Amino acid sequence: MHDLKEYLLNKEYLTPQELVYLSLGCPELKDKKATYVETDESCVMCGQPIMGKGLKKTKTWPFSANFTNIDLWAKPHSEHVCIPCAYAQIGKAPNGQALKGRTFVATTDEFKILTDNESISETILNPPEPPFVINVGLYKKAFQKHLILRSKVNYSTQNGIIVQYGEETVILTPDLLEIYKQIISLRKAGLGWGEIKYDTPNNNKKKAEILGEKETHIFNERIKPYLDTLALEFLLITAPKGDKK
Ligand SMILES: [Zn+2]
Repeated sequence: MHDLKEYLLNKEYLTPQELVYLSLGCPELKDKKATYVETDESCVMCGQPIMGKGLKKTKTWPFSANFTNIDLWAKPHSEHVCIPCAYAQIGKAPNGQALKGRTFVATTDEFKILTDNESISETILNPPEPPFVINVGLYKKAFQKHLILRSKVNYSTQNGIIVQYGEETVILTPDLLEIYKQIISLRKAGLGWGEIKYDTPNNNKKKAEILGEKETHIFNERIKPYLDTLALEFLLITAPKGDKK
């Protein structure tokens, strides 16, 4: 098991499954259906060469018989799965809950569960040193999805932050991250999503009380291109709210 850790730490680019597995300290996969084998084949899921020890894939393991996301498989004909991919599929988070569908941030040496809007927004505005993965499965639309299989590893934050939001990958550009800070101020002051989004005299009056008149105008212009985007929905849904006025 130590060899795998060594190999992953020296790898130039990690798959999200590999990064998450590293973040958890490369735990042993304890499952009675897990059959370890030596193979030269690539992993069905990530398509990476299996470095020595891998796991035998069956019709029902580690992907259940009703697993429908075979479009996500890089090597659909492979009969093997690598340990990090198998762990992403059936492993447990440190709190004992299934890893699949959890909301977390993972770096090469830390796995942190995010429990609420405060911790999600805090992580997005102050991300860890790359590489890292942020998965958000807390909300109705994103709940219990196969997040890790879809996520992207952030290797730089220069052009923004990539977040896996349920089945969708959201890119938060530097512009959107600035908008996020203002949305958070407005939400904390008790404004609703509609009041934040729409440019009406009544809404603008409420926004101006928090941001000032000039900033409110700038804010309205700034969010216009994003009004119907998933990225803006994500920012609104994850901004911590204050008490409703
Ligand atoms: Zn794999």
